[in-house]
Amino acid sequence: MKEKKYPLIGRERFEEYQGNLKTSSFDIAGTTIGTEKPLIIAGPCTVHSRQQTLESAHGVKAAGADLLRGGAFKPRTSPYSFQGLGVEGLKILAEARKETGLPIVTEVLDTRDVKLVGKYADMLQIGCRNMQNYPLLTEVGRYAAQHEKGVLLKTGPLPKLDEVLSAAEYIALEFEKQQKTIKLILCERGVNIPANSMRNTPRPEFLAELRRATFLPVIGDPSHSAGDRELVPQVGKDYLNAGANGLIIDILGDHEKPVTDDGVEVCDYQQGLRMSEFKRYLESLQNHRVPQ
Ligand code: PEP
Ligand code: MN
Repeated sequence: MKEKKYPLIGRERFEEYQGNLKTSSFDIAGTTIGTEKPLIIAGPCTVHSRQQTLESAHGVKAAGADLLRGGAFKPRTSPYSFQGLGVEGLKILAEARKETGLPIVTEVLDTRDVKLVGKYADMLQIGCRNMQNYPLLTEVGRYAAQHEKGVLLKTGPLPKLDEVLSAAEYIALEFEKQQKTIKLILCERGVNIPANSMRNTPRPEFLAELRRATFLPVIGDPSHSAGDRELVPQVGKDYLNAGANGLIIDILGDHEKPVTDDGVEVCDYQQGLRMSEFKRYLESLQNHRVPQ
């Protein structure tokens, strides 16, 4: 018999997922993941202030988003860039959830912070730079399984299919040990080879391969791949046409400026979709159905 390389997340695990593109379905704080409607995670790249985050949360909720994103612990290339508000940012996100009911997705960078971030987050994000940080994958998986949280795993800077699926298997293993439903979403966010004017080259075809290999939901991140708000809508559509279960999108307020009132540069300003644009974009996706 052929060895099962991905015994927990591979389509070969269950007969119902073979020869199709069906996705496993699970609940994140009352929101069902894995439906025919594309999952939309949206919000600011980074929590800069209470006002910005609450406005964004209300806006994306009204537009029809399913979950709110926002970074409190940020992986920045330069140590001199704003590193996020940390715990204060988590508290702001918790307030946004209380006001809107949207579950929160936020990144955890370090095994030492898993408990802290987990206290506020409904879904813990493992970013591109940490896709192969195995102790973090294990710790986040263990915590999430124990506390009924979800995990969002982003693809690494230039990963092979096997590296992504194996990283997901690490997380799944922790859910399995506790005999819990695997609440894990994979996210293709482009590779670190700039092409044309893009920040990271999107790989919709790689997303399609992931979809064929695993029954877990796989979403695309047109913001961090394209890196330019002009290109985000089309790249998002490319991901959906490749079979994505949804999208994660950075949002900016309609009048948000590149620098905050406190003089901090807004993180990933150039790629944030303006709120009104986001609303129209979701309207344009209304009839899209995720292939099953
Ligand atoms: C993010 O989503 O906030 C982020 C930092 O993305 P990535 O890890 O894909 O660079
Ligand atoms: Mn960002």
